[in-house]
Amino acid sequence: MDVSRAGRQREGHPPDAIADRYERLFYHPCVGMGIEYREEPCKSALNPVKGMGFKWSLNPYMGCVHRCTFCYVRHFEHRSDRPADDRYGTSIRVKANIADVLRKELARPSWRHELVVIGAATDPYQPAEGRYHLTRACLETLRDAANPLSIITRGPMIVRDIDVLTDAARRADVSVTFSVPTVDEEVWRKTEPSTAHPRQRLRALARLVEAGINARVGMAPILPGISDKPEQLREVVRAAREAGATGIWANLLFLRPGTREHFLEHLAEDWPEQLPQYQELYAGRAYLGADVMKPVKQAVSGLAREYGIADRRKVRLAPPPEPEQLSLAVDPVPKRAPAGARGRRRAG
Ligand code: SF4
Repeated sequence: MDVSRAGRQREGHPPDAIADRYERLFYHPCVGMGIEYREEPCKSALNPVKGMGFKWSLNPYMGCVHRCTFCYVRHFEHRSDRPADDRYGTSIRVKANIADVLRKELARPSWRHELVVIGAATDPYQPAEGRYHLTRACLETLRDAANPLSIITRGPMIVRDIDVLTDAARRADVSVTFSVPTVDEEVWRKTEPSTAHPRQRLRALARLVEAGINARVGMAPILPGISDKPEQLREVVRAAREAGATGIWANLLFLRPGTREHFLEHLAEDWPEQLPQYQELYAGRAYLGADVMKPVKQAVSGLAREYGIADRRKVRLAPPPEPEQLSLAVDPVPKRAPAGARGRRRAG
């Protein structure tokens, strides 16, 4: 299925004002790139996870059109004998039934209401979400079950779902991490060919924090010699602080097979002078040693303290809308109250 606006019209789908609006705002990089969307139902929505700080993940889409050169998912594609090169992200699996499956899984007596992390393997707010609304449907399902959830994304489209997120946060722990490895224009353009501008992500973060959602910045991956200069790190932490981030953490690039070949190929084109250093740094290993990692992480922690981000964990949820506000939301032309009643309300 072609989910672009033109494609939907061609295929006879009815107009979708919300999807069209978000398509205009966030989708232009992908239009005309020949992305294939495969609607394939899933048998399970929740994936058990080992060796991470959480036990369950959920991904409404498989594959990611953002196609970051450093994407760690390329490793898993490579391991599954699927293309991890430039073809990665050109065919997206859409789990069209995921919210129904999730609802059944959450209703099982054996389910222990553990944290569910959305977006650990693909961006849940990639362009297809503007059309399919699967991430939103999963959020509604988790909210209805009062289940804790956490989202990782590079997609500002998340602001569309502030209403569901605030509702969910009143019932259980909710947090959002925006991946913002850098605000350096050149690094962003060369390594993240289809994501929204990092400052657009931070504007979205500010909207979430304003609404009382716990929203952090994940500076990952930081690229040695490319985005780890002290002034570059400071710029991200300062921008995160200005946006109101409730936390910040950092991690450096790791290169497992699949990601490694693709990243180094692009590095040779974009920063050829860096190639020898990377070949040496990552010789025989996927993860950098503490001697390289620690100074960068410590620098970010120090900046977070300097800007007071580490102390900003507590946020206050916006109060639930008054019934009157709700009725205004569905009735754009509210009835005028009698003059006397209006006067009484003002006086009170
Ligand atoms: S947004 Fe995340 S999942 Fe998508 S390509 Fe980039 S790193 Fe990979």
